[in-house]
Amino acid sequence: MNDHFKIYEHSRQRNVLDVRNLSVAFTGRKTKKTVLSDVSFSIRPGETVALVGESGSGKSVTALSLLRLIERSGGVISGATYFTDNDGQTVDILAQDEKELRAIRGNKISMIFQEPMTSLNPVLSVGFQITEAILAHRDVSAEEAKREAIDLLHKVEIPDPERRFGDYPQQFSGGMRQRVMIAMALACKPSLLIADEPTTALDVTTQARILDIIQRLKEEMNMAVLFITHDLGIVSEIADRVMVMYCGSIIEKADTRNLFNAPSHPYTSGLILSMPAVGSARGKGVPLPAIPGTVPAVWQGARGCTFSPRCSYAIERCRHETPLLQRRNPHSFVEVACHRAAEIRSMLGSLLPWVEAGELGITA
Ligand code: SF4
Repeated sequence: MNDHFKIYEHSRQRNVLDVRNLSVAFTGRKTKKTVLSDVSFSIRPGETVALVGESGSGKSVTALSLLRLIERSGGVISGATYFTDNDGQTVDILAQDEKELRAIRGNKISMIFQEPMTSLNPVLSVGFQITEAILAHRDVSAEEAKREAIDLLHKVEIPDPERRFGDYPQQFSGGMRQRVMIAMALACKPSLLIADEPTTALDVTTQARILDIIQRLKEEMNMAVLFITHDLGIVSEIADRVMVMYCGSIIEKADTRNLFNAPSHPYTSGLILSMPAVGSARGKGVPLPAIPGTVPAVWQGARGCTFSPRCSYAIERCRHETPLLQRRNPHSFVEVACHRAAEIRSMLGSLLPWVEAGELGITA
């Protein structure tokens, strides 16, 4: 099945998540700072969608807004977030009251974070915490919940799960704690898992194990995954589709192969070419090309295209007219927010030889 047909087939399935024009602002007495602007995307069952970008681009704000956790920090959300659960029931998360939200959070939509110790309670055993998650949302006996918790520990490859059930988080290594978090997140068989940089603090071997576990369980449960990361190497290994974020907006969306083969936005190509695995393939002693400058604070984005101060392709129009995210052409599923996307695409040519030589795991 070719890529185009695969995407077409996917597009006919119902979405687990349909996010439309999601925006977040923080307001003071006289100020309003918009940190997320008109973010729209969807995720289908069994699909892994990666949200990538540098620190401060708005990735975690997006994740927290999906479950309305950003409201606890004073964020005001607008737009719509339609969620369809495994029974086919669709709700707009932004229209739910607190009781209805509690029935969704940790149950139908789960989250895992970068540092499990901030989510696990150090004075309760891991077994108790997983069991508690099951009992909070499902009508099962304590014995049944314990059996399921041990089974989950087994599924996330904790050795000797019956014995480790009674151990405390601090008795586990960082990688093991992340596995426990995954077990907790999957306790109620969610339709959607939001993974916010879950492997950033781990060494590469442990990271690979955790990614394998997430992939395997995603396939077993036909679960959708929104994977948030700044690491394009991880994206190339696990994602079906990718969204690139900059300054609180999505600036490019594509299926993974297309994104790495033929990025359309100068920021995306800059990110790919600055990866050591790709850069080293350009030749010994050739310095890695870096994107000049830094990401401005989201609310300080430049007038016009927010990337224009760093973009070597910027023209006068870019400095006063904001580019809209739109399809590269009517036959393409790639969307890009750049006034010069078509020209730049043909100037850049294909990056695939560099990508392949860098052994990123993208197949032609
Ligand atoms: Fe660069 Fe202009 Fe495209 Fe923005 S719109 S990425 S400044 S070429």
